Amino acid sequence: MGLLTYRKIEKDFPGGLYLPLLDQPVPLKIINPGILSSLLALPLRIGDGSIMRPVVAQDEIVKAGQLLAQSGDGYYIYSPCDAQVKSQSEAFVEYRPGQPVLQLQCISEEIQGCTCPEFSLERFSQKQNEMMLNVVDRSGIVNPTDGQPLSRLLRKLKNQNVTHVIANATGLEPDLVASLVVLDKFPEQVFTAQAILRQWLNASEAIMAYPYHFEIDRNAAETWNVKCVPVSEKYPQGRDALILKTLHNSGNINNKIGIGAVFDIQMLRQLERLILAGQLPYDRIVTVCGDGVKKPGHYQVPVGTGVKDLINYAQVEKNISCVAAQSTLAGYAIDPETAVITTRSQAIIVLADKPVRQVGTCIRCGRCIENCPVGIDPMRIHSLAENEKYDQAVKIGVAKCIECGTCSYVCPASLPLDERIRLVKCKKNIQSSRCCQ
Ligand code: SF4
Ligand code: SF4
Repeated sequence: MGLLTYRKIEKDFPGGLYLPLLDQPVPLKIINPGILSSLLALPLRIGDGSIMRPVVAQDEIVKAGQLLAQSGDGYYIYSPCDAQVKSQSEAFVEYRPGQPVLQLQCISEEIQGCTCPEFSLERFSQKQNEMMLNVVDRSGIVNPTDGQPLSRLLRKLKNQNVTHVIANATGLEPDLVASLVVLDKFPEQVFTAQAILRQWLNASEAIMAYPYHFEIDRNAAETWNVKCVPVSEKYPQGRDALILKTLHNSGNINNKIGIGAVFDIQMLRQLERLILAGQLPYDRIVTVCGDGVKKPGHYQVPVGTGVKDLINYAQVEKNISCVAAQSTLAGYAIDPETAVITTRSQAIIVLADKPVRQVGTCIRCGRCIENCPVGIDPMRIHSLAENEKYDQAVKIGVAKCIECGTCSYVCPASLPLDERIRLVKCKKNIQSSRCCQ
């Protein structure tokens, strides 16, 4: 275990945790593994969106940037390289096995995405207000938080009184900070996108929330008039709801006067690249870590890369017990043989063989309630769910749960509290970050 070196900032949200660091630190640099051995498998279904229909034929040779598939409701996939289209298949996508993918055999020397004249600054600046949505509409940029197309999110926000354009670089957990690495390497791009959105949404301020120990590029932030706010890395500060609470508690935003919209940092970079350089999104920067890999790092890979390829590149150990996606506390186990990197991927955690904790009975210690960052009673919900009293569970605040997994992590009896809460959400059709399968 690493040392607990986090500074507690009183104006953070109540509850939550100051987590220990992972055994192996993740170096703060982006590693580009180049061409990987297997075919790319591009997911034809993202989030809860409808399935995209391929517009290319099997064995067809396609150019980088050529449209491969689309849905009727705003999803588009473009080819990241010159390639040959292979057959449709199935893969483990996000939390679901057996999802449709389009396989692609790369025939370019490198996978670098492409610049497309259809999307350009010239087009954008002609009539900024109308063009913003037109430019973003067919871009294929997806909001990683909910899997929806960015154009849909922007349409929704345009009709609301957004006062603050917020970006959050604190990451999912202290070591899972791909967003921070993007900010470190591409500060101009991220701040520029915030400035564009501030102007477009008519918001009063753009804010970058970042871990207090990070040396942020203040010159770039000043150039684009973005206010930098240091925050602690208290878990789950990386969640939109919690960073809003922290910014409110520290007096940086006022929830009663307007709305703070939180944007994903990698998505901001994609937006800036689209508008200023006409580049289509094609890649994801994903943290690969855990004690089951020898080369932890932040890897820049095309969407559709096989998880197996990626963890092999990070030198996976022989004896591993679990490969999880997204987060140690709130992630989910995946099958590395068939899982692929998607537009929502943030982290892959590979765990070495370790004894599994036995589930016991509740000793009424109250830790789950004390540490819940949204102030609900996980123990009570767990017990109501066990007795199938789902309506009562809803009445005591199931919908408020952000599925951070803190309650299960601190429970000395190892009760699967967050899993039970997700079960209630699924039974009662309450939106969940993933559904029980
Ligand atoms: S998973 Fe839900 S109930 Fe558990 S601590 Fe997080 S927000 Fe609270
Ligand atoms: S943390 Fe676990 S043992 Fe303690 S009250 Fe909550 S459910 Fe019961």
